[in-house]
Amino acid sequence: MLEVKDLHVYYGAIHALKGISFKVEDGEIVTIIGANGAGKSTTLRTISGLLRPKTGEIILNGVHLEKMKAKDIVKMGVCQVPEGRRIFANMSVQENLELGAYLRNDRDGIKKDFDRVFSLFPRLAERKSQIAGTLSGGEQQMLAIGRALMSRPRIILMDEPSMGLAPILVEQIFNVIKEINSEGTTVLLVEQNAYMALVTAKKAYVLETGNIVMGGTASELLNNEEVRRAYLG
Ligand code: ATP
Repeated sequence: MLEVKDLHVYYGAIHALKGISFKVEDGEIVTIIGANGAGKSTTLRTISGLLRPKTGEIILNGVHLEKMKAKDIVKMGVCQVPEGRRIFANMSVQENLELGAYLRNDRDGIKKDFDRVFSLFPRLAERKSQIAGTLSGGEQQMLAIGRALMSRPRIILMDEPSMGLAPILVEQIFNVIKEINSEGTTVLLVEQNAYMALVTAKKAYVLETGNIVMGGTASELLNNEEVRRAYLG
């Protein structure tokens, strides 16, 4: 359903993505693993329309996204959970979630999705009126995911959801990712936590300094000697 073909992205003179290609089929969890600076965030930000590729194609169910505005890409059902839990710190939990649904006007659907987010994250339900900036790191990550779900995406792009979280929370977040996926949302996940990403995903790619150097099923990569040495310690 989502296909990225020969994507080149620059920051001025810096060639950040050097012709990457990959596919995400409907209903899958696909992960891109890689070290700091490999280009993982750049990949997601380009799919979301926050960055423009110099050349290459991004095709969602036959529709080209590479020249579309970010807002129209959200309308197409693609939503990103940004790295570092960029929530609106001065607004309440409830208001943050409402903003996730700002492009929708189906009231009943929105109400259902509020219930869904609160059942996925009971913590957020207890803290509806709390100011988001005062939530713990893990709760802010849950809110960032919840806000993305409020746009009812067909595909959710997750940028390092485990970053900075204690191991127990990392596990919780990955369980939620599996649950979201089992309810029908396709997931593209970029991660430095290669182990958790590979045990969660179905397919995986390895990104190194702007090139995809390997791809396969997640279990193949999990058992691959090079991947083990470089990413699994
Ligand atoms: P991290 O996990 O550290 O965020 P990443 O794999 O997400 O790493 P990117 O943030 O996509 O990596 O960065 C890819 C490359 O592009 C890096 O070399 C980075 O320094 C460069 N880069 C990223 N953003 C900019 C920018 N705004 N201006 C210039 N160079 C940038």
